[in-house]
Amino acid sequence: MKTASPFSFPVSPSTAAKLAKLGLARDADLVLHLPLRWEDETRITPIRDLLPGQTVQVQAVVGEASVAYRPRRMLTLTVEDAGGVLGMRFLNFYPSHLKLFQPGESFRFIGEIRGGFLGLEMVHPRFIKADDATPLPTQFTPVYPTTAGLGQATLRKLVSRAMEAPIHDTLPVDWLAELGLPELESSIRLLHQPPLDSALAELESRRHPAWQRLAFDELLAQQLSLAVARRQRRSQRTRPLPAKRQLTAAFIRALPFDLTAAQVRAWQEISDDLTQVHPMRRLLQGDVGSGKTVVAALACLQAIENGQQAAFMAPTEILAEQHFRRLAPPLSELGVRCAWVSGSQRKSERSAAWQAIASGEVDLAFGTHALFQDGGRFARLGLAVIDEQHRFGVGQRLALMHKGEEPHQLMMSATPIPRTLAMSYFADLDVTTVDELPPGRTPVATKLVNAARRDDVLARVREACLDGGQAYWVCPLIEESEKLQLQTAEDNFAALAAQLPELRIGLVHGRLKPDEKQAVMGAFQAHEIDLLVATTVIEVGVDVSNAALMIIEHAERMGLAQLHQLRGRVGRGSRESVCVLLYQTPVSELARARLKVIYELTDGFEIARQDLLLRGPGELLGHRQSGLPLLRFADLERDIALLEAARNLAQRCLVDHPDVAARHLERWVGHRQSLSSI
Ligand code: ADP
Ligand code: MG
Repeated sequence: MKTASPFSFPVSPSTAAKLAKLGLARDADLVLHLPLRWEDETRITPIRDLLPGQTVQVQAVVGEASVAYRPRRMLTLTVEDAGGVLGMRFLNFYPSHLKLFQPGESFRFIGEIRGGFLGLEMVHPRFIKADDATPLPTQFTPVYPTTAGLGQATLRKLVSRAMEAPIHDTLPVDWLAELGLPELESSIRLLHQPPLDSALAELESRRHPAWQRLAFDELLAQQLSLAVARRQRRSQRTRPLPAKRQLTAAFIRALPFDLTAAQVRAWQEISDDLTQVHPMRRLLQGDVGSGKTVVAALACLQAIENGQQAAFMAPTEILAEQHFRRLAPPLSELGVRCAWVSGSQRKSERSAAWQAIASGEVDLAFGTHALFQDGGRFARLGLAVIDEQHRFGVGQRLALMHKGEEPHQLMMSATPIPRTLAMSYFADLDVTTVDELPPGRTPVATKLVNAARRDDVLARVREACLDGGQAYWVCPLIEESEKLQLQTAEDNFAALAAQLPELRIGLVHGRLKPDEKQAVMGAFQAHEIDLLVATTVIEVGVDVSNAALMIIEHAERMGLAQLHQLRGRVGRGSRESVCVLLYQTPVSELARARLKVIYELTDGFEIARQDLLLRGPGELLGHRQSGLPLLRFADLERDIALLEAARNLAQRCLVDHPDVAARHLERWVGHRQSLSSI
């Protein structure tokens, strides 16, 4: 750790460490550390005027102080001013509090008024010792986001030190006029220290022009750094892989179906990318079942017909294995040498596979993330395909990009990225959308059924299976414990086997050994199993077209993307498909909203949009692992117009005003792990 203060004024090392936790490492960061809210300590409200729900300051004299023990230990006070009496409660207190609150002593208390059992009260008010002679502050008191051990008073002092210097605008005035945004300096000063005539409620809503200016600047910084990253990528060189149309054409000829128009379009875009001397970073998105795998296989073949290798990665072993089992036979027909690598392979098998990959005897390697975490090397990796990209944290996606020399990359996702996210966090990717399903798909009817009616559901499963169909029974997700989840799956399997003795029932879960898993999935595929009891391991990519019925237990616990993915496992054949969502009451507000969305909508794009609305972008991005700075001031739903304006301006800046771009990035990104290195 550095010993010199990173600030232009003295800050103790322990305070600096706490500031660093908040991402504050220089004066400019403090300037942009804006209040969450403000408190009005400039006025005293007489007790007789108080209303529940208000946050106010009262000045009053202690009447009684006592410690109560029921319902729990707490310190209670009564205080009074000239016109009324008010209660106070402190749940955490020290003996010093008792000493301080002597009857007759005068204090100012700030807090929210609640209608308590014995009249109005404040719980855990902030307080200072003060009487009529103590002057009132003349400004609102900002309340800043902080961290343990860093008090508001210290933070306020540091921020005002940092604010002593003038704040230079990063954008020219005439641009601001055009954008209809206020100047930076006045906006920042207003937010730290709103004038006394400000309506605090309006300021807190964040629609105030000052907030909009900050949101715009933040979005502009994000767009600029993404554009810089994109440009850097464009300046990188890699081996071009021209379309020779040997293997690819042969593969298309051998397919038992025609490509959809959307697949042809997607394939064309990817094929063109691969011929470039710059590494491709393309996201291929399309709803579950839209046929992305074939397109990805074609991309691999274009690499291979140029003498390069390709890697085909999936997030789960089951999915990776399925790709391998599906694609390896037809590709081998074309002379492509395929290999399978996985984390749970026997060591000898795995090292043999890696040896073949490293020596170049293998053209196409299938596997899970382990492919890249093993430390194994490709002789000449030309293309990496990453299926179900949304399952990788953003961090993993980035880490992949930084491995050695840059291969072309194709990412695939069945969870379409909402437009706002595509324009912001994913703006460094090119996006291709497969917006059409292959013909012959049957729409899936979704039914919401109370778990109390499990017997009806069992009857339906029995009927469907005796009629020659197959079904999935998905066991509840138990996030707290994988062991408990396994237990539930096994219990469910035993119960279903007892309740449906006429059916052949299989069980698959994440703890099975790969060959066991493969045996069960193989048996289900071959229709030696009627009902497959599964944990959410079947969430992605599993494809058995005769299975047209899916039961999902405790659907209220699952996320929207997961439900959509699961439901996509059915509706793949000619049978009428049904997805039954079993829910257990009571259902929380959020769960109810999710179930409503999945019940009413089938379009993955629309579902993803609703997901964003319900959860916010942070969770969708899985930012906790990624470390990618999230937006602090902008809100992608509310500020879509600002996002568009920021994107346009970023383009203009980079082309015509690189000085403005540099200045703006310096203010917003500065020392921080530069976004442009992403
Ligand atoms: P996803 O986009 O969800 O990854 P897949 O690539 O797994 O979808 O394709 C789903 C199913 O559709 C597979 O069985 C695949 O063989 C089939 N399929 C793909 N393209 C077509 C097409 N053009 N016509 C008919 N079936 C297709
Ligand atoms: Mg897929």
